[in-house]
Amino acid sequence: MGKALIIGCGGVASVTIHKCCQNPDVFEEICIASRTVSKCDALKEKLGGGKTKITTAQVNADNVDELVSLIESFQPDVVINLALPYQDLSIMDACLATKTNYVDTANYEPPDTAKFEYSWQWAYRDRFKQAGITALLGCGFDPGVTGVFSAFAQKHYFDEIHEIDILDCNGGDHGYPFATNFNPEINIREVTAKGSYIENGKWVETEPMAIKRVYDFKEVGVKDMYLLHHEELESLALNIKGVKRIRFFMTFGQSYLTHLKCLENVGMTSIEPIDYEGQKIIPLQFLKAVLPDPASLGPRTVGKTNIGCIFKGIKDGNERHYCVYNVCDHQEAYREVGSQAISYTTGVPAMIGAMLLMQGTWNGAGVFNVEEFDPDPFMDALNKWGLPWQEDLDPVMVD
Ligand code: NDP
Repeated sequence: MGKALIIGCGGVASVTIHKCCQNPDVFEEICIASRTVSKCDALKEKLGGGKTKITTAQVNADNVDELVSLIESFQPDVVINLALPYQDLSIMDACLATKTNYVDTANYEPPDTAKFEYSWQWAYRDRFKQAGITALLGCGFDPGVTGVFSAFAQKHYFDEIHEIDILDCNGGDHGYPFATNFNPEINIREVTAKGSYIENGKWVETEPMAIKRVYDFKEVGVKDMYLLHHEELESLALNIKGVKRIRFFMTFGQSYLTHLKCLENVGMTSIEPIDYEGQKIIPLQFLKAVLPDPASLGPRTVGKTNIGCIFKGIKDGNERHYCVYNVCDHQEAYREVGSQAISYTTGVPAMIGAMLLMQGTWNGAGVFNVEEFDPDPFMDALNKWGLPWQEDLDPVMVD
Protein backbone atom coordinates (compact mmCIF):
# COMPACT_ATOMS: atom_id res chain seq x y z
CA MET A 1 0.00 0.00 0.00
CA GLY A 2 2.60 2.65 0.90
CA LYS A 3 5.57 4.09 2.74
CA ALA A 4 6.12 5.41 6.27
CA LEU A 5 9.03 7.46 7.58
CA ILE A 6 9.60 6.67 11.26
CA ILE A 7 11.59 9.28 13.19
CA GLY A 8 13.31 8.11 16.38
CA CYS A 9 14.65 4.66 17.17
CA GLY A 10 14.11 4.28 20.92
CA GLY A 11 11.85 2.04 23.00
CA VAL A 12 8.52 3.05 21.45
CA ALA A 13 9.80 3.32 17.86
CA SER A 14 11.23 -0.19 18.05
CA VAL A 15 7.75 -1.60 18.76
CA THR A 16 6.10 0.43 16.00
CA ILE A 17 8.77 -0.75 13.55
CA HIS A 18 8.23 -4.42 14.54
CA LYS A 19 4.47 -3.94 14.08
CA CYS A 20 4.87 -2.24 10.66
CA CYS A 21 6.96 -5.23 9.58
CA GLN A 22 4.16 -7.59 10.73
CA ASN A 23 1.82 -5.60 8.46
CA PRO A 24 3.64 -5.50 5.10
CA ASP A 25 0.49 -5.17 2.98
CA VAL A 26 0.08 -1.67 4.42
CA PHE A 27 3.72 -0.82 5.22
CA GLU A 28 5.44 -1.90 2.02
CA GLU A 29 8.40 0.30 2.76
CA ILE A 30 9.65 2.06 5.89
CA CYS A 31 12.59 4.37 6.50
CA ILE A 32 13.91 4.47 10.08
CA ALA A 33 15.60 7.82 10.68
CA SER A 34 17.10 8.98 13.95
CA ARG A 35 19.94 10.87 15.57
CA THR A 36 22.03 7.72 16.13
CA VAL A 37 21.87 5.85 12.84
CA SER A 38 23.63 2.77 14.24
CA LYS A 39 20.48 1.99 16.28
CA CYS A 40 18.40 2.17 13.05
CA ASP A 41 20.88 -0.08 11.24
CA ALA A 42 20.81 -2.63 14.08
CA LEU A 43 17.01 -2.83 13.89
CA LYS A 44 17.13 -3.10 10.10
CA GLU A 45 19.63 -5.95 10.49
CA LYS A 46 17.28 -7.73 12.92
CA LEU A 47 14.06 -7.23 10.94
CA GLY A 48 15.27 -7.09 7.35
CA GLY A 49 14.50 -10.07 5.18
CA GLY A 50 10.75 -9.79 5.68
CA LYS A 51 8.31 -8.39 3.12
CA THR A 52 8.58 -4.76 4.33
CA LYS A 53 11.54 -3.04 2.68
CA ILE A 54 13.60 -1.16 5.30
CA THR A 55 16.03 1.72 4.75
CA THR A 56 17.71 3.90 7.38
CA ALA A 57 18.90 7.49 7.61
CA GLN A 58 20.64 9.81 10.02
CA VAL A 59 18.60 12.92 10.83
CA ASN A 60 18.61 15.73 13.35
CA ALA A 61 14.89 16.19 13.85
CA ASP A 62 15.40 19.66 15.32
CA ASN A 63 16.50 20.80 11.86
CA VAL A 64 13.58 21.44 9.50
CA ASP A 65 15.76 21.63 6.36
CA GLU A 66 17.29 18.21 7.07
CA LEU A 67 13.83 16.76 7.62
CA VAL A 68 12.48 18.32 4.42
CA SER A 69 15.29 16.83 2.30
CA LEU A 70 14.78 13.41 3.90
CA ILE A 71 11.01 13.52 3.27
CA GLU A 72 11.54 14.75 -0.29
CA SER A 73 13.95 11.94 -1.07
CA PHE A 74 11.93 9.12 0.59
CA GLN A 75 8.44 10.42 -0.37
CA PRO A 76 6.50 8.78 2.49
CA ASP A 77 2.70 8.73 2.78
CA VAL A 78 3.03 9.42 6.50
CA VAL A 79 5.68 10.53 8.98
CA ILE A 80 5.46 8.79 12.37
CA ASN A 81 7.19 10.98 14.96
CA LEU A 82 8.58 8.76 17.76
CA ALA A 83 11.42 11.05 18.75
CA LEU A 84 10.83 13.31 21.75
CA PRO A 85 8.12 15.95 22.32
CA TYR A 86 10.76 18.66 21.72
CA GLN A 87 10.82 17.72 18.01
CA ASP A 88 7.04 17.87 17.35
CA LEU A 89 6.97 21.35 15.83
CA SER A 90 10.01 20.99 13.58
CA ILE A 91 8.62 17.70 12.23
CA MET A 92 5.18 19.27 11.71
CA ASP A 93 6.86 22.18 9.85
CA ALA A 94 8.65 19.69 7.58
CA CYS A 95 5.37 17.82 6.93
CA LEU A 96 3.69 21.10 5.99
CA ALA A 97 6.52 22.04 3.63
CA THR A 98 6.26 18.66 1.88
CA LYS A 99 2.47 18.11 2.24
CA THR A 100 2.91 14.85 4.16
CA ASN A 101 0.61 13.35 6.82
CA TYR A 102 1.89 13.37 10.42
CA VAL A 103 1.37 11.12 13.50
CA ASP A 104 2.84 11.47 17.01
CA THR A 105 2.30 10.10 20.54
CA ALA A 106 3.09 13.03 22.84
CA ASN A 107 2.37 16.74 22.68
CA TYR A 108 4.97 19.45 22.20
CA GLU A 109 7.09 20.55 25.16
CA PRO A 110 9.57 23.41 24.99
CA PRO A 111 12.94 22.01 26.17
CA ASP A 112 13.53 24.80 28.70
CA THR A 113 10.08 24.76 30.38
CA ALA A 114 8.50 21.65 31.90
CA LYS A 115 5.09 22.41 30.44
CA PHE A 116 3.06 20.38 28.01
CA GLU A 117 -0.13 21.49 26.31
CA TYR A 118 -1.74 21.28 22.87
CA SER A 119 -1.84 25.03 22.12
CA TRP A 120 1.37 24.96 20.07
CA GLN A 121 0.22 22.09 17.85
CA TRP A 122 -3.42 23.18 17.61
CA ALA A 123 -2.06 26.46 16.21
CA TYR A 124 -1.22 24.45 13.03
CA ARG A 125 -4.88 23.57 12.33
CA ASP A 126 -5.49 26.10 9.54
CA ARG A 127 -2.16 25.46 7.86
CA PHE A 128 -2.67 21.67 7.78
CA LYS A 129 -6.21 22.21 6.50
CA GLN A 130 -5.03 24.51 3.71
CA ALA A 131 -2.28 22.03 2.78
CA GLY A 132 -4.89 19.23 2.59
CA ILE A 133 -2.96 16.96 4.99
CA THR A 134 -3.74 15.28 8.32
CA ALA A 135 -1.91 15.57 11.64
CA LEU A 136 -2.97 12.92 14.15
CA LEU A 137 -1.84 13.96 17.62
CA GLY A 138 -1.24 11.78 20.66
CA CYS A 139 -1.69 8.33 19.11
CA GLY A 140 -0.02 6.21 21.80
CA PHE A 141 -1.94 4.60 24.69
CA ASP A 142 -2.44 7.54 26.99
CA PRO A 143 -2.94 9.80 25.15
CA GLY A 144 -4.20 7.75 22.25
CA VAL A 145 -6.19 4.64 23.06
CA THR A 146 -7.76 6.47 26.03
CA GLY A 147 -9.22 8.97 23.51
CA VAL A 148 -10.44 6.14 21.27
CA PHE A 149 -12.02 4.46 24.34
CA SER A 150 -13.78 7.76 25.16
CA ALA A 151 -15.13 8.17 21.61
CA PHE A 152 -16.25 4.50 21.67
CA ALA A 153 -18.08 4.95 25.00
CA GLN A 154 -19.71 8.11 23.66
CA LYS A 155 -20.80 6.39 20.43
CA HIS A 156 -22.12 3.11 21.85
CA TYR A 157 -22.93 3.50 25.55
CA PHE A 158 -23.96 7.03 26.50
CA ASP A 159 -26.22 9.89 25.51
CA GLU A 160 -24.02 12.08 27.69
CA ILE A 161 -20.74 11.37 29.48
CA HIS A 162 -20.35 13.41 32.67
CA GLU A 163 -17.21 11.96 34.25
CA ILE A 164 -14.08 10.25 32.90
CA ASP A 165 -11.38 8.69 35.07
CA ILE A 166 -8.33 7.45 33.17
CA LEU A 167 -6.43 4.85 35.20
CA ASP A 168 -2.90 3.92 34.15
CA CYS A 169 -1.61 0.99 36.17
CA ASN A 170 1.81 -0.53 35.67
CA GLY A 171 2.03 -3.67 37.81
CA GLY A 172 5.40 -4.55 36.27
CA ASP A 173 8.58 -5.15 38.26
CA HIS A 174 11.99 -4.62 36.60
CA GLY A 175 13.98 -5.38 39.74
CA TYR A 176 15.82 -2.02 39.84
CA PRO A 177 15.29 0.24 42.87
CA PHE A 178 14.59 3.12 40.44
CA ALA A 179 14.10 3.24 36.67
CA THR A 180 11.56 4.85 34.36
CA ASN A 181 9.70 2.84 31.77
CA PHE A 182 9.89 5.44 29.03
CA ASN A 183 12.34 8.25 28.31
CA PRO A 184 13.53 9.26 31.85
CA GLU A 185 13.74 12.97 31.09
CA ILE A 186 10.17 13.18 29.73
CA ASN A 187 8.83 10.83 32.43
CA ILE A 188 10.34 12.74 35.35
CA ARG A 189 9.26 16.12 33.93
CA GLU A 190 5.72 14.71 33.78
CA VAL A 191 5.51 13.25 37.28
CA THR A 192 7.21 16.14 39.11
CA ALA A 193 4.84 18.70 37.55
CA LYS A 194 1.80 19.96 39.48
CA GLY A 195 -1.26 17.73 39.21
CA SER A 196 -4.48 18.97 37.65
CA TYR A 197 -7.96 17.84 36.71
CA ILE A 198 -11.13 19.29 35.24
CA GLU A 199 -14.17 19.84 37.47
CA ASN A 200 -17.30 21.55 36.17
CA GLY A 201 -15.42 22.56 33.05
CA LYS A 202 -12.63 24.35 35.00
CA TRP A 203 -9.03 23.33 35.65
CA VAL A 204 -8.18 22.58 39.30
CA GLU A 205 -4.45 22.51 40.14
CA THR A 206 -2.90 20.36 42.90
CA GLU A 207 0.58 19.93 44.32
CA PRO A 208 2.48 17.03 42.67
CA MET A 209 1.15 13.64 43.87
CA ALA A 210 -1.19 15.37 46.37
CA ILE A 211 -4.24 13.21 45.54
CA LYS A 212 -3.91 9.48 46.16
CA ARG A 213 -6.43 6.68 45.70
CA VAL A 214 -6.17 2.90 46.10
CA TYR A 215 -7.67 0.75 43.35
CA ASP A 216 -7.99 -2.99 42.73
CA PHE A 217 -6.98 -3.51 39.08
CA LYS A 218 -8.19 -6.60 37.21
CA GLU A 219 -5.34 -9.10 36.62
CA VAL A 220 -2.89 -6.88 38.54
CA GLY A 221 -4.28 -6.34 42.05
CA VAL A 222 -4.43 -3.50 44.56
CA LYS A 223 -2.21 -0.46 43.79
CA ASP A 224 -1.72 3.09 45.04
CA MET A 225 -2.41 5.61 42.29
CA TYR A 226 -1.86 9.36 42.15
CA LEU A 227 -3.57 12.13 40.25
CA LEU A 228 -1.38 13.69 37.53
CA HIS A 229 -1.83 16.34 34.90
CA HIS A 230 -2.06 14.61 31.53
CA GLU A 231 -2.44 15.97 28.04
CA GLU A 232 -5.60 14.14 26.97
CA LEU A 233 -7.59 15.98 29.66
CA GLU A 234 -7.29 19.07 27.47
CA SER A 235 -8.50 17.46 24.24
CA LEU A 236 -11.22 15.29 25.84
CA ALA A 237 -12.68 18.37 27.58
CA LEU A 238 -13.10 19.86 24.11
CA ASN A 239 -14.22 16.78 22.19
CA ILE A 240 -16.49 14.87 24.61
CA LYS A 241 -19.55 17.08 24.78
CA GLY A 242 -21.13 17.64 28.18
CA VAL A 243 -18.25 16.17 30.22
CA LYS A 244 -17.94 17.80 33.63
CA ARG A 245 -15.06 16.02 35.34
CA ILE A 246 -11.92 14.38 33.89
CA ARG A 247 -9.11 12.97 36.01
CA PHE A 248 -5.96 10.98 35.26
CA PHE A 249 -4.38 8.59 37.78
CA MET A 250 -1.11 6.65 37.50
CA THR A 251 0.18 3.95 39.84
CA PHE A 252 3.58 4.33 41.52
CA GLY A 253 5.30 2.01 43.97
CA GLN A 254 6.80 3.30 47.21
CA SER A 255 10.39 2.69 46.08
CA TYR A 256 9.88 4.85 42.96
CA LEU A 257 8.35 7.68 45.02
CA THR A 258 11.03 7.59 47.73
CA HIS A 259 13.84 7.73 45.15
CA LEU A 260 12.09 10.48 43.20
CA LYS A 261 11.61 12.62 46.31
CA CYS A 262 15.26 12.21 47.24
CA LEU A 263 16.41 13.07 43.68
CA GLU A 264 14.14 16.14 43.70
CA ASN A 265 15.36 17.23 47.14
CA VAL A 266 19.00 17.18 46.03
CA GLY A 267 18.25 19.04 42.78
CA MET A 268 18.82 16.15 40.36
CA THR A 269 15.45 16.58 38.59
CA SER A 270 16.01 20.27 37.81
CA ILE A 271 16.08 21.47 34.19
CA GLU A 272 17.97 24.68 35.08
CA PRO A 273 21.53 24.49 33.67
CA ILE A 274 24.34 24.46 36.28
CA ASP A 275 28.11 24.95 35.96
CA TYR A 276 30.07 21.74 36.47
CA GLU A 277 33.84 21.90 36.08
CA GLY A 278 33.59 24.70 33.54
CA GLN A 279 30.78 23.05 31.59
CA LYS A 280 27.04 23.79 31.59
CA ILE A 281 25.00 20.69 32.38
CA ILE A 282 21.29 20.12 33.03
CA PRO A 283 20.91 17.92 36.14
CA LEU A 284 17.91 16.00 34.73
CA GLN A 285 19.81 15.17 31.52
CA PHE A 286 22.77 13.96 33.59
CA LEU A 287 20.38 11.83 35.67
CA LYS A 288 18.98 10.32 32.43
CA ALA A 289 22.51 9.33 31.47
CA VAL A 290 23.03 7.31 34.67
CA LEU A 291 19.58 5.66 34.82
CA PRO A 292 18.85 2.38 33.03
CA ASP A 293 17.79 2.83 29.39
CA PRO A 294 14.04 2.00 29.29
CA ALA A 295 14.69 -0.03 26.13
CA SER A 296 16.89 -2.35 28.26
CA LEU A 297 14.12 -3.17 30.77
CA GLY A 298 12.37 -5.64 28.46
CA PRO A 299 14.08 -8.88 29.46
CA ARG A 300 13.83 -8.21 33.21
CA THR A 301 10.31 -6.78 33.58
CA VAL A 302 7.59 -9.15 34.78
CA GLY A 303 3.93 -8.47 35.50
CA LYS A 304 1.16 -6.67 33.66
CA THR A 305 -0.18 -3.24 32.83
CA ASN A 306 -3.87 -2.40 33.05
CA ILE A 307 -4.77 0.90 31.40
CA GLY A 308 -8.31 2.07 30.76
CA CYS A 309 -11.12 4.53 31.32
CA ILE A 310 -14.10 4.54 33.67
CA PHE A 311 -17.09 6.59 32.55
CA LYS A 312 -20.17 7.88 34.34
CA GLY A 313 -23.06 9.41 32.41
CA ILE A 314 -26.60 9.04 31.18
CA LYS A 315 -28.22 6.59 28.75
CA ASP A 316 -31.97 6.74 28.03
CA GLY A 317 -32.49 8.86 31.12
CA ASN A 318 -30.70 6.45 33.49
CA GLU A 319 -27.30 6.80 35.17
CA ARG A 320 -24.78 4.42 33.60
CA HIS A 321 -21.24 3.35 34.54
CA TYR A 322 -18.88 1.74 32.03
CA CYS A 323 -15.22 0.73 31.98
CA VAL A 324 -13.04 -0.32 29.03
CA TYR A 325 -9.42 -1.35 29.51
CA ASN A 326 -6.49 -3.34 28.15
CA VAL A 327 -4.24 -5.69 30.09
CA CYS A 328 -0.78 -6.17 28.62
CA ASP A 329 1.81 -8.65 29.89
CA HIS A 330 5.41 -7.39 29.97
CA GLN A 331 6.95 -10.77 29.20
CA GLU A 332 4.53 -11.55 26.36
CA ALA A 333 5.37 -8.18 24.80
CA TYR A 334 9.05 -8.95 25.23
CA ARG A 335 8.74 -12.34 23.60
CA GLU A 336 6.92 -10.86 20.63
CA VAL A 337 8.89 -7.68 19.91
CA GLY A 338 11.76 -7.53 22.45
CA SER A 339 10.26 -4.63 24.48
CA GLN A 340 8.43 -4.18 27.78
CA ALA A 341 4.69 -3.41 27.87
CA ILE A 342 4.94 0.39 28.23
CA SER A 343 6.77 0.68 24.91
CA TYR A 344 4.42 -1.98 23.47
CA THR A 345 1.20 -0.24 24.52
CA THR A 346 2.49 3.01 22.96
CA GLY A 347 4.09 1.63 19.80
CA VAL A 348 1.16 -0.53 18.65
CA PRO A 349 -1.40 2.36 18.57
CA ALA A 350 1.10 4.53 16.66
CA MET A 351 1.25 1.85 13.95
CA ILE A 352 -2.57 1.56 13.94
CA GLY A 353 -3.07 5.34 13.61
CA ALA A 354 -0.61 5.50 10.71
CA MET A 355 -2.30 2.48 9.08
CA LEU A 356 -5.78 4.06 9.29
CA LEU A 357 -4.45 7.26 7.67
CA MET A 358 -2.68 5.31 4.91
CA GLN A 359 -5.82 3.28 4.20
CA GLY A 360 -7.92 6.47 4.14
CA THR A 361 -10.18 4.97 6.85
CA TRP A 362 -9.40 8.00 8.99
CA ASN A 363 -9.11 11.09 6.83
CA GLY A 364 -9.58 14.83 6.93
CA ALA A 365 -7.46 17.90 6.40
CA GLY A 366 -6.31 19.57 9.59
CA VAL A 367 -4.91 18.74 13.05
CA PHE A 368 -6.88 16.14 15.00
CA ASN A 369 -6.87 14.26 18.29
CA VAL A 370 -7.78 10.59 18.05
CA GLU A 371 -11.22 10.93 19.66
CA GLU A 372 -12.35 13.13 16.75
CA PHE A 373 -12.42 10.11 14.40
CA ASP A 374 -14.71 7.04 14.28
CA PRO A 375 -13.39 4.76 17.07
CA ASP A 376 -14.72 1.47 15.65
CA PRO A 377 -11.97 0.65 13.12
CA PHE A 378 -9.32 1.51 15.73
CA MET A 379 -11.03 -0.70 18.34
CA ASP A 380 -11.08 -3.61 15.85
CA ALA A 381 -7.42 -3.03 15.04
CA LEU A 382 -6.46 -3.07 18.76
CA ASN A 383 -7.90 -6.58 19.02
CA LYS A 384 -6.11 -7.68 15.87
CA TRP A 385 -2.68 -6.14 16.55
CA GLY A 386 -1.99 -7.21 20.14
CA LEU A 387 -3.90 -4.90 22.50
CA PRO A 388 -7.27 -6.62 23.03
CA TRP A 389 -9.69 -4.65 25.20
CA GLN A 390 -12.19 -5.76 27.80
CA GLU A 391 -15.33 -4.18 29.16
CA ASP A 392 -16.90 -3.96 32.61
CA LEU A 393 -20.52 -2.83 32.76
CA ASP A 394 -20.48 -2.53 36.56
CA PRO A 395 -17.03 -1.18 37.42
CA VAL A 396 -15.83 -0.12 40.86
CA MET A 397 -15.85 3.67 40.66
CA VAL A 398 -13.07 5.92 42.00
CA ASP A 399 -14.25 8.29 44.76
P1 NDP B 1 13.53 7.08 23.74
O1 NDP B 1 14.37 8.09 24.45
O2 NDP B 1 13.73 5.63 24.00
O3 NDP B 1 13.66 7.31 22.15
C1 NDP B 1 13.68 8.57 21.56
C2 NDP B 1 14.34 8.43 20.22
O4 NDP B 1 14.32 9.72 19.56
C3 NDP B 1 15.83 8.03 20.32
O5 NDP B 1 16.10 7.09 19.30
C4 NDP B 1 16.56 9.34 20.07
O6 NDP B 1 17.81 9.20 19.48
C5 NDP B 1 15.62 10.01 19.09
N1 NDP B 1 15.85 11.45 19.09
C6 NDP B 1 15.86 12.29 20.15
N2 NDP B 1 16.14 13.54 19.73
C7 NDP B 1 16.31 13.47 18.39
C8 NDP B 1 16.62 14.43 17.39
N3 NDP B 1 16.83 15.73 17.68
N4 NDP B 1 16.72 14.01 16.12
C9 NDP B 1 16.54 12.71 15.78
N5 NDP B 1 16.23 11.76 16.68
C10 NDP B 1 16.12 12.14 17.97
O7 NDP B 1 12.02 7.51 24.02
P2 NDP B 1 10.72 6.55 24.04
O8 NDP B 1 10.79 5.65 22.88
O9 NDP B 1 10.56 6.02 25.41
O10 NDP B 1 9.57 7.64 23.80
C11 NDP B 1 9.29 8.12 22.49
C12 NDP B 1 8.10 9.07 22.55
O11 NDP B 1 6.94 8.37 22.98
C13 NDP B 1 8.27 10.25 23.52
O12 NDP B 1 7.80 11.43 22.89
C14 NDP B 1 7.38 9.88 24.68
O13 NDP B 1 6.88 11.02 25.36
C15 NDP B 1 6.25 9.16 23.94
N6 NDP B 1 5.45 8.27 24.80
C16 NDP B 1 4.08 8.32 24.67
C17 NDP B 1 3.28 7.51 25.45
C18 NDP B 1 1.80 7.46 25.22
O14 NDP B 1 1.15 6.54 25.73
N7 NDP B 1 1.20 8.36 24.46
C19 NDP B 1 3.84 6.60 26.47
C20 NDP B 1 5.30 6.54 26.46
C21 NDP B 1 6.06 7.37 25.66
P3 NDP B 1 19.12 8.64 20.29
O15 NDP B 1 18.98 7.16 20.14
O16 NDP B 1 20.26 9.22 19.58
O17 NDP B 1 18.96 9.11 21.71
